[in-house]
Amino acid sequence: MGSNPTLSARKPMEKHDVIIIGGGPSGATLSHFLKDMGIDSVVIEKGDHFREKVCAGGLPLGIFDILPQSVSRDFEYVPYRTFRVLHKGIVEESVTFDRPFAFGVMRKNFDEHLRNNLDVRYGEEFVSFEEHANEVIVKTNKNVYSGAFLVGADGIGSKVALLANLNKKTKIIIAEEKELRKENNSDDALNVYLGYNFLGYGWKFTKKDFISVGAGAMKKFYKKGVSNLIDPTYADIKIYPISLWDGDYNIAKGRVALVGEAASIVDPFNAAGIYHSILSSKLLSEVILDNLKKRSKDFSQYLNLLESTIFEEFRYGSALSNAFYPFLPIIKRVILNKRILEFIIRTQEDIGYLSYKEVFKRFEKSKRLEIKLIYAILKILKFM
Ligand SMILES: Cc1cc2nc3c(=O)[nH]c(=O)nc-3n(C[C@H](O)[C@H](O)[C@H](O)COP(=O)(O)OP(=O)(O)OC[C@H]3O[C@@H](n4cnc5c(N)ncnc54)[C@H](O)[C@@H]3O)c2cc1C
Repeated sequence: MGSNPTLSARKPMEKHDVIIIGGGPSGATLSHFLKDMGIDSVVIEKGDHFREKVCAGGLPLGIFDILPQSVSRDFEYVPYRTFRVLHKGIVEESVTFDRPFAFGVMRKNFDEHLRNNLDVRYGEEFVSFEEHANEVIVKTNKNVYSGAFLVGADGIGSKVALLANLNKKTKIIIAEEKELRKENNSDDALNVYLGYNFLGYGWKFTKKDFISVGAGAMKKFYKKGVSNLIDPTYADIKIYPISLWDGDYNIAKGRVALVGEAASIVDPFNAAGIYHSILSSKLLSEVILDNLKKRSKDFSQYLNLLESTIFEEFRYGSALSNAFYPFLPIIKRVILNKRILEFIIRTQEDIGYLSYKEVFKRFEKSKRLEIKLIYAILKILKFM
């Protein structure tokens, strides 16, 4: 694979058990999970310290349970207790909970925190790889490495996926974000804006010193400037794509595997990817451990674990997405009410993340007529 057959002849090679490309949440946490198991890895990151990533930085409550042991829970965040939904700028519903159901972080600080105490090669870019019987040889713009496994944690533009002919990104959201200085009177609520863009949504929520304002929609329907409708305060708008999960299982082959957004492990309903990226890294670390013990290169267990955890959830999330966004004008009255929002957010509180499977389960058991109706629609769409 890769391209250059003379790669190994050029420079003495640095050896590691695992070579990880990308030091975002998936790559950094994978390296920690492996380290916690006594497995040696190196992270190749093309950016510098405190690299900016266009992202709203919203995290579910369960993030604290899922982080690797060696990552300190002591990082800067803003907790959200109020969830507010607006339609075309008008508040439809607002629900306040006793305890936070989500948190907001500045990505550059959060990612830097995740990379603490790791062997990260900043400013180094992955170029190509060759797979051999017992090793993978990885070439960057600065070095040549040998490892038992190569992991692509290099996000939506994954070069590892491209060169290994893995995960084609087919379900693309285009999102925009601007960051405004936080005023003293800014409220720490998670505001979701509907109705400004078809097959998409917008958001506004505070971080420690900033307010993240943004919006995204399926590529075909993206319109620049929705964030200005949400808040007209001027700031540079940054645009970045997101690759939603599309049911593609082609994410590991030979000695190469993908995690996080490189594998399109992004929630198909709300386009959030951090929690599930970290979960995918946790699952992959267990399979790498097993492979190293058995001297094998079998990633089928990684796919099985993904299927029974993340992908099953995402199938429900896709059904919800298919039922919700296209029909929003019609179902708005039924779905955007206090009881249903409470019902859904309560699930996130109990499970730690927005578990669509659990929402379906609770919908099924509910005796309330409007919930029974929604459940019937969702069931049809899920099995279509
Ligand atoms: C506008 C916007 C808002 C979002 N809001 C949220 C949100 O609120 N909550 C949420 O959970 N998710 C959100 N997401 C999604 C989230 O940002 C991603 O799912 C998440 O960053 C994926 O993490 P990752 O580690 O897999 O990839 P990334 O964070 O993309 O990290 C990949 C890393 O690989 C490095 N890299 C790439 N190519 C190479 C190479 N060739 N060599 C070396 N290094 C390389 C990059 O520099 C980068 O550091 C949002 C996305 C966007 C665009």
